[in-house]
Amino acid sequence: MPHPLTELKINTLTKPGGDPAEELTADVCVVGAGIAGLSAAVEARRLGRSVVLVDALPVLGGQCVNSLIGLFCGVYGNGPAYRRLTHGIFDPMFEDLARTGDIHFNRTHTITVAYDEVALSRWIENLVHELGIQVVLGSSVLSVDADQGHIRSTTFASRHGLVRVRATGFVDASGDASLTWEAGMPCRVPERTVWGSQQIRLENLREEFRPEPAELAARVGEKAEEYGLVRRDGLAFFFPGRNTAVMNMTHVEAPLSAVRAARAQLEGRAQADRVVEFLRKEFPRAFGEAKVRLYGFPGRRQTRWIAAEHQLTVDEVRSGFRFEDAVARTAWPIELHDRIEGYVWETYDADHVHYVPLRSLIPIGAHNVVAAGRCVDGDAAALSSVRVMGPCAAMGFGAAHALDLAGEGSVREVDPAELRARVHENVDS
Ligand SMILES: Cc1cc2nc3c(=O)[nH]c(=O)nc-3n(C[C@H](O)[C@H](O)[C@H](O)COP(=O)(O)OP(=O)(O)OC[C@H]3O[C@@H](n4cnc5c(N)ncnc54)[C@H](O)[C@@H]3O)c2cc1C
Repeated sequence: MPHPLTELKINTLTKPGGDPAEELTADVCVVGAGIAGLSAAVEARRLGRSVVLVDALPVLGGQCVNSLIGLFCGVYGNGPAYRRLTHGIFDPMFEDLARTGDIHFNRTHTITVAYDEVALSRWIENLVHELGIQVVLGSSVLSVDADQGHIRSTTFASRHGLVRVRATGFVDASGDASLTWEAGMPCRVPERTVWGSQQIRLENLREEFRPEPAELAARVGEKAEEYGLVRRDGLAFFFPGRNTAVMNMTHVEAPLSAVRAARAQLEGRAQADRVVEFLRKEFPRAFGEAKVRLYGFPGRRQTRWIAAEHQLTVDEVRSGFRFEDAVARTAWPIELHDRIEGYVWETYDADHVHYVPLRSLIPIGAHNVVAAGRCVDGDAAALSSVRVMGPCAAMGFGAAHALDLAGEGSVREVDPAELRARVHENVDS
């Protein structure tokens, strides 16, 4: 009778030759599992399409979860009416997270929605699992097989080798237009840095002593040099009742080079540590015992985005121009982080709404590719007002419908009236 511990056989293998890629086929391949890509994947699946959702991170949720953004903006219009502007994935999300006390609605000039990123992360994972979306994580776009604006397949490099996905339609929700770029389609980059931020979640706070936003900003302005802070403003998003807050108080580069991005990440964390020192010393009652619970993954705002047939302009944002092929809307201000010390902030009237058209989501010359989220086409200011998570989710929803309507054909030929009927809850009323 052999000892049970000796029964496990070990095989010796060497890497097989040839093309070792794992192959997947789907109706829709979504690249990027942030709020835009999730929204696209969920909606495509609800439309009965098979979906593969790929992300370079080993977890779902993109920046929404992993960069500790902490607050959904742009989902509601301005007060006093506070119109709900985007539905889709937010409807079940808000309902479920409200039931467990994991979101909080703040009324300011608009309604922003604070959330617990851990609860949200599990909510997303459960939803994706329930819907039967095929997820491939830790996998980055390596190469794209495209011909005349048609992507046939995309190959991803993962720690486990290559994965190739063939699909009828593709959504570029990578935030950095990675799919469009690798497909050899034109992209845009800003001439000077649009700053990212290293977010942190602090715990052990005394919420009852929290400084007013203006007081916090004023003190940063006064003491920034002393503490080595690069920004002259600062935002604290407290989660009511939990004595925690997400701090948005750094400005860090968000390079498109792997080496520089890694360096910037360390710089961002060092900046965040200086922020904590500042808060502990300057606001001891609220932050004296503050501990960093989590450092988010580097927060990236506007890095590289697609060149589309139509670039959304700041004038269209200001005037609230209504496109016949609108897929998303928001009332969020222009929030352009193009200077290290702060950002441009331009707010709008009570009833203002601006729109994003499908034609700003389709890369020039593409037929089966639609972008969604922060890498759609706008001038720097216009993009800064539509890259918040409300409109990003609406764009994902719209991208799924555009590809569904196009079927085997071109997204350029989608009938705007049919599209509008599909996305009306995010653009009408
Ligand atoms: C510091 C900071 C604070 C912000 N504050 C707010 C706020 O309070 N409220 C708000 O609503 N918005 C805020 N925003 C904006 C908002 O968070 C983002 O614009 C939004 O989350 C973008 O969503 P997305 O799905 O387009 O992209 P992302 O969330 O960036 O997701 C893109 C995904 O694509 C993946 N990916 C990238 N390249 C590849 C590749 N080559 N291969 C495979 N996968 C790839 C990434 O890993 C990532 O998961 C903030 C942004 C920053 C940076």
